[in-house]
Amino acid sequence: MKQNLAINGGPKTIEKDFEWPVFDDTDVNAVAEIVRSGKWGNPDCGDVVETFEKEFASFCGAKYALTCVNGSVALRLALIACGVKPGDEVIVTPYTFIATASIVLEANCVPVFVDIDPDTYNINPALIEKFITARTKAIIPVHFAGQACSMDSIMGIAKKYNLRVIEDACHGHGAEYKGKKLGSIGDAGCFSFQSSKNLTSGEGGMIITNDESLYDMMNSLRNVGRVKGGQWYEHHFAGCNYRITQMQAILLSNQLKRLAEQTDRRHENGTYLNSLLEKIDGIKPLTRGLGETKHSYHIYIFKYDKSKFNNLSKVDFSRMLAAEGVPCFMGYPEPLYKQPLFQQKNFMCYAIPEEVDYSDVFCPETEKACHEEAVWIFQNTMLGTKEDMDKFAEAILKIQKAYV
Ligand SMILES: *Cc1c(COP(=O)(O)O)cnc(C)c1O
Repeated sequence: MKQNLAINGGPKTIEKDFEWPVFDDTDVNAVAEIVRSGKWGNPDCGDVVETFEKEFASFCGAKYALTCVNGSVALRLALIACGVKPGDEVIVTPYTFIATASIVLEANCVPVFVDIDPDTYNINPALIEKFITARTKAIIPVHFAGQACSMDSIMGIAKKYNLRVIEDACHGHGAEYKGKKLGSIGDAGCFSFQSSKNLTSGEGGMIITNDESLYDMMNSLRNVGRVKGGQWYEHHFAGCNYRITQMQAILLSNQLKRLAEQTDRRHENGTYLNSLLEKIDGIKPLTRGLGETKHSYHIYIFKYDKSKFNNLSKVDFSRMLAAEGVPCFMGYPEPLYKQPLFQQKNFMCYAIPEEVDYSDVFCPETEKACHEEAVWIFQNTMLGTKEDMDKFAEAILKIQKAYV
């Protein structure tokens, strides 16, 4: 049976190239037109950028939207604009992309790691209060994989302790919590348009907010400290140039037209794949139905139990599944606090108090997700067909049969 596995030279379960990014001549022509016009960017951002910001704000049901160079900068600008001071603490999880935590250091603040809920891989709201101190200023909930965090609980805690909430919605374009678009619920919501993300122009970022003063400050920080109505060489705040080009903006504008339909398709395929995988012994999709009315499936995650696969390791299982033609990956190898950045205190920032130390941090659910359980299937596959989902389940069963 093992010879029949694709990794050993057997036939693949699914032969399909899942395309990403998705584009056609309308995208090519739109960008070409900007190139021909010679109006590629400055002064300021340009009208194409402003148009895209208005479109995205309206898509998200937010008052303001502000583009910037990437999702990391979006998070950093939002945090700084919230008025954090050196040494303030910001609550994050250790199961996310490094930027969620490293931008906290860049803002001269201390990331405090709170473990994830094993059912959703989002921050566990029941653990947050234990980690709040007099220095805590903000929470950055990550809508991991595109599944909404428990925003009612998080906003309740933030209100009680007077904390700012910056949603990391870099996986959550078009996804919803109780009918509201992710990113539009907290003080600010941040998005990435990097090449792997559900809406992309290669690189790029966005912040949405309903708070005018926050918007004005972030706008200034993005634009070398300039202010509305000020002179060109008049600089009020220590900002930098974080603007995007008109070519990126027109591409994003055109891509945005596809996002609602694509998100619906990902949500439908993800829901269908759940129904298939929950029938397989040793495979468990993450829990749904906790307020997320639309899941953007930037990643389709399922939990793997090697005891039902004759102790085949997760790493080997993921490799075999990928060989069968299911674009997948074992995910983060370690919780963020295990990164050399934290273990060796390579903070590159002198505002972090001496006593800050991550050598004893241990979040058991994140450890389990990294080392034993989580398997990721990439978002573009969720744009496939129902039959593709059937094949994904079939590929998992094929490996299980070969091993038990
Ligand atoms: C991609 C990502 C970011 C950073 O976005 P960039 O555009 O790559 O800077 C931040 N948080 C999460 C969860 C991400 O996936």
